Parts: sequence; C-alpha cells; structure tokens
Amino acid sequence: MRVVRFHGPGDVRLEDAPEPTPGPGDVKILVRNCSTCGTDVKIWKFGHHHIVPPRVMGHEVAGEIVEVGGEVAGWQPGAPVQVIAAIPCGQCHDCQRGRMTVCPNQESIGYHYDGGFAEYMVVPAKVLAVNGLNRVPDGVSFAEASVTEPLACVLNGQILARVGEGDDVVVVGAGPIGCLHVRLARARGASRVFLVDVNSDRLDMAAAMVAPDATVCASQTDVVDEIGKLTDGRGADVIITAAASGKAQEQALQMAARQGRISFFGGLPKDDPVIKCDSNLVHYRELTIVGANGSSPAHNAEALRLIASAAVPVADLITHRLELDRTLAAFDIVARGEAIKVTIEP
Ligand SMILES: [Zn+2]
Ligand SMILES: [Zn+2]
Repeated sequence: MRVVRFHGPGDVRLEDAPEPTPGPGDVKILVRNCSTCGTDVKIWKFGHHHIVPPRVMGHEVAGEIVEVGGEVAGWQPGAPVQVIAAIPCGQCHDCQRGRMTVCPNQESIGYHYDGGFAEYMVVPAKVLAVNGLNRVPDGVSFAEASVTEPLACVLNGQILARVGEGDDVVVVGAGPIGCLHVRLARARGASRVFLVDVNSDRLDMAAAMVAPDATVCASQTDVVDEIGKLTDGRGADVIITAAASGKAQEQALQMAARQGRISFFGGLPKDDPVIKCDSNLVHYRELTIVGANGSSPAHNAEALRLIASAAVPVADLITHRLELDRTLAAFDIVARGEAIKVTIEP
C-alpha cells in the first residue's frame, strides 16, 4: 500500500509499505479521510521528539473497518469510524480522575503509532480500551468525521474557559482552529464572537465562512483598543488565542473583562515561551487563565455528536480535498495559510 512517512525533518516521503496486520486487540481500517493541520507542517519541517522515524503521519482520521482482531468485541467490518488522536492510558492518577487530556503516559496516532496518511491503518488496542473509536452516524461524511479530532480539542478549550450563554468571545487566529472556535462558541450560546488575525486575507476568507460579529486585523489596528470599543469598554468575557503568539497572549490579558477567562489554546515556540503578565490585572479583575492540551475520548465522542446534529457544521470548512500522493502539496497549502481545512482522501 501507499503511505506518507516521516523520515526526518524536511524528509517526508510517499512510499510503498506492506499492508499492516491487526493484532488480536486491534482493528484495521481503510482510511477514507485524514485531514491535515498545522501540526503536520511542524512535524514535516522540524520533526517531533515523540516521533522515531520512519513513521506514517496523520492524526485526524476517519475510515471504514475492514478487519477486526480475534479478541475485539462490538466492532464489525464495514462500520464507519472516527479515531481519537491522543491516547490516554486510562490507568494513571489523572486518567482515573477524568483528566485524560493531561495523562502523562499519553501516546498519539501518527507519533507513537502509524497514522492515517496511508491506504490502511491499524487502530491499536489501546484506543479501543479507552473508547477512542467512534461510529460515524448516518448522514456524516468521512471528511466531516475527520474534523472531529480538531473540534474535540476546541471543545476541551471552551469547556475549560467556560464559554457560555451571553459571553462576548474573542478568537485570535483565523485558521481552521479559529473557525471551529467561532462556530462552537455560537453553539454554546455566546452573545457575540469577534475574530482577530494579523493576515487580512486569511481573516477575510475565514470571516466569509464563519461570519463573526466583527473582525479585527491585528497588523492594521490596535486590537486591545478595538475590542474595548466593541464592548463599550468592558472587554471580552473570553479570549481564546489560537495562534502561536506571545504578543497575542499578552494582549488577551489586557482585553479581558472583569471575571474574564483567557484560553492559551495555542502553544508558543518552545525556545520563546515566556510572556509578560500584569498580575494585578488578574488579581483585581478576577481573571482566569487556562491552557488546553488536546482532547479526551469523551471530547471526541461529543464533537462527533455536535457535527452530526449540525450544532457545529464543518462540511463547508473543508476547502481542499487531495489524494494521498499529493500530501506534501497539501502541507504546502496549509503552511501558506491559503485553505481552511485540507483533507487527504487516500
Ligand atoms: Zn491536527
Ligand atoms: Zn493516564
């Protein structure tokens, strides 16, 4: 079969590999869609400390079961499924307390296990053990189902930041994740959602798709000032930074309303992770700063329900569909920020 394999930074190859065989507790799927994201581009360019090459990349996976191991119960060939990306151990202190996103033993599809940029993929027993395989409901395409994983991460972020009824929400970063944040915030009852980006083309493209109440181009306008004006000087109830920008994080603190919540959704470059924080803003305004690290199996199940019920539509966010042999071209499209969501159809 054909696979897209990481061999080292800057060295990702389309090549032939033997079809994988599922172990007794595994499930083998025919990959129908594996979507791309900024993480794939980062891995391609810089590698990742959890990836020992060669490794098949791709972690936003949906497909069809073609074979089940002898010890697998409850799944049959032909079933359409979506696969979690981050696999918690289910056993440790954090997992036992329901904090699966911060499981210290977490492993990932496309990092520790071969991923979805391939014709076939084995879903490891560990995924099944934590209910990480979801049946795709009728009426949901494989392409839409492949967006479940990023939406699950967005859902985790908004639960932690307590996005809810009546909130004014600022989303910084108009990429696919930012678009999902806008849509989910609306589904959770946010009053108004404002979208911010430094790139005006990308901002316009995203805004045409997800229709925020206002956009702010951070390279042309003072964002803190503008959000102040839009909120009659109160500031925003929730600010979500879906961009790898320390400056955006610092601005987020300044534009928060009293009792505001700030989600540092996107991480910062690891050689430059320190920001300036006015602690008195946090103190007097009773601000809450939260992080977000991926998603749990439960978040994936809920995200798929949100897609299926059309509470969070994703079909129109998939702007590019490419075949497996064009995966590197897909990474280029993602890197240039020209697309919302690019999916690979092996
Ligand atoms: Zn991703
Ligand atoms: Zn654990």
